Amino acid sequence: MTGSADLEAFRAARERVLAAIAGACARAGRRADEVELVAVSKTMADDVVRTAIAAGQRVFGENRVQEGAAKATELRGEGATWRLIGPLQANKARAAVQAFDAIDAVDSLAIARRLDRLAAELRPDTRLPVHLEVNVDADPAKHGWKIADLDREIDEVLALGHLRVEGLMTIGRPVARAEDARPTFRALRELGQRLSARRPDLGAGLSMGMTDDFPIAVEEGATQVRIGRALFGDRPPR
Ligand SMILES: *Cc1c(COP(=O)(O)O)cnc(C)c1O
Repeated sequence: MTGSADLEAFRAARERVLAAIAGACARAGRRADEVELVAVSKTMADDVVRTAIAAGQRVFGENRVQEGAAKATELRGEGATWRLIGPLQANKARAAVQAFDAIDAVDSLAIARRLDRLAAELRPDTRLPVHLEVNVDADPAKHGWKIADLDREIDEVLALGHLRVEGLMTIGRPVARAEDARPTFRALRELGQRLSARRPDLGAGLSMGMTDDFPIAVEEGATQVRIGRALFGDRPPR
């Protein structure tokens, strides 16, 4: 169980993150309400998430299908929405579409097509919101489209009628100073602008920024930041 001390601690952490988002928006001449805070609750117990909901947090991110689906099921009816922010294997796509409200790390045309088919079957009345993950730095350790590949395949992705492509997503590179992540975030924004000029039906969303680098990501145009440790504290080892 968690008590009122936990509620106050979460509320204070969330206020600090929101203030940092607002500060970055002010520096960049943006409005703070242009940025959505996604609370990354991976490894956190259901009660911790309940506390976060009680403190006003509504949008949660999970990077594993099974864990996220279990929480979404357990906490259904408490007003939260669930976004899958981690890589998705084909054999878990059905469970993901059943459990999550949005899939934010779609990293290939094959998985986009599969999600489109599943969305048609499982939720035919609304388009499934997705972000396309881009491996901006062409880092072999990371998932996501290489820029040239997305350039070539974006038309095919946008032709999938059961998806709503809200925008692009990336993970900053591991850096010593947050400032060093800026080129990655700037490149994602510029890619989004370039693709949107050609395809206005591509959403303008940019999911980028985590605990160590989110103010820089917001300065560079993030519309969603995915924050775990700054809200919940350090994660226990898996
Ligand atoms: C864990 C995770 C986050 C949050 O990381 P923190 O450093 O705890 O803020 C964000 N995005 C993805 C894809 C993650 O897996």
